[in-house]
Amino acid sequence: VINFSAGPAKLPASVLAHAQKEMLDHQDTGVSVMEMSHRSSEFSKILNSAEHKLRDLLAIPQNYKILFLQGGGTGQFSAVPLNLLPLKPSLSADYLVTGSWSAKAAQEAEKYGTVNLVVPKTKKYTSIPDPSTWKLNPEASYFYYCANETIDGVEFQYIPEINGVPIVCDMSSNMLTRHLDINKFGLIFAGAQKNIGCAGVTLVIIREDLIGLAMKICPVIFDYQIQAGNNSLYNTPPTYGIYIMGLVFNWIDEEGGVKKMEENSIKKSNLVYNLIDSSEGFYHCPLDKDCRSRMNLPIRIGSLQGHETLEKQFSEEATKTGYLQLKGHRSVGGIRVSLYNAVTVEETEHLVGFMTAFMERNRH
Ligand code: PLP
Repeated sequence: VINFSAGPAKLPASVLAHAQKEMLDHQDTGVSVMEMSHRSSEFSKILNSAEHKLRDLLAIPQNYKILFLQGGGTGQFSAVPLNLLPLKPSLSADYLVTGSWSAKAAQEAEKYGTVNLVVPKTKKYTSIPDPSTWKLNPEASYFYYCANETIDGVEFQYIPEINGVPIVCDMSSNMLTRHLDINKFGLIFAGAQKNIGCAGVTLVIIREDLIGLAMKICPVIFDYQIQAGNNSLYNTPPTYGIYIMGLVFNWIDEEGGVKKMEENSIKKSNLVYNLIDSSEGFYHCPLDKDCRSRMNLPIRIGSLQGHETLEKQFSEEATKTGYLQLKGHRSVGGIRVSLYNAVTVEETEHLVGFMTAFMERNRH
């Protein structure tokens, strides 16, 4: 099978093999990582090495803390406003909603303060409104956006320029898939289960000066100051998830780092988009070209609104061929191809071969 799932998603085979090899006895400790105290020296090594490797891969400056938390991306939808709204007396934040996940984040933040939607609400997410039209509040505590909308397929090809207000970014579905200048961000978070590991651990990279202002009602496990002060060990962290994440970081490094991941992502997504664009109306991508995701590619078959029978047939034939999870999210329908780091160029070529053959058989 080839796993094109949007998440939890494919992991590199060598990472799984490595984890399997030391599953019962981690480096002669006689126990599995799952059975280890989170305060043992063995686990400290695992945590510290994951942190160092990530710092190297993304050139994360020393004035940023790296936290390994629980609660998923959704937990951060709450943790971000609980910790950062008090940065300014306005208790207000700017949210750029470009898809279902940033919409959910904005909705959650409304519980704790004022949310300013910088672009008008819309039902369909297929573009990024021009930055010159964004209605920014200079008194906002932070500016929030989602770098890659996993469901809708809207991905930023640039980092927004926001003056004087820290940028918070949800990178749950494109973390470590493209070059980043960390200095441009106040906070980045990402659930692990797409590009960087298995479900259960959430990465937070936060600039130090943004730590320490959490609201009184902020649950202790979401308080960045407490988690940073305890090296993510205030309570029991998701130990096995952190271990797997460390193995994924090592794998990325061995493969050639973020640069290589980005090159592959461009190659893989181009393979699919080129087929769509040359299919003379058989395949459609609803997105504006300048925000087409390299990670999650939404596709309609037959017409821009999709042809129900053809799409159903595509899903069935794909599943029979061994291609997993190509059905679009229930809220948008159609097909969704997810091309995270662990999906290879060759696997993508196989899929494009299948899509081409399907088109030739069904084009009337
Ligand atoms: N943000 C993005 C971009 C996502 O794709 C997801 C989940 O798929 C989430 C947030 C929510 O993450 P979780 O399910 O880990 O809470």
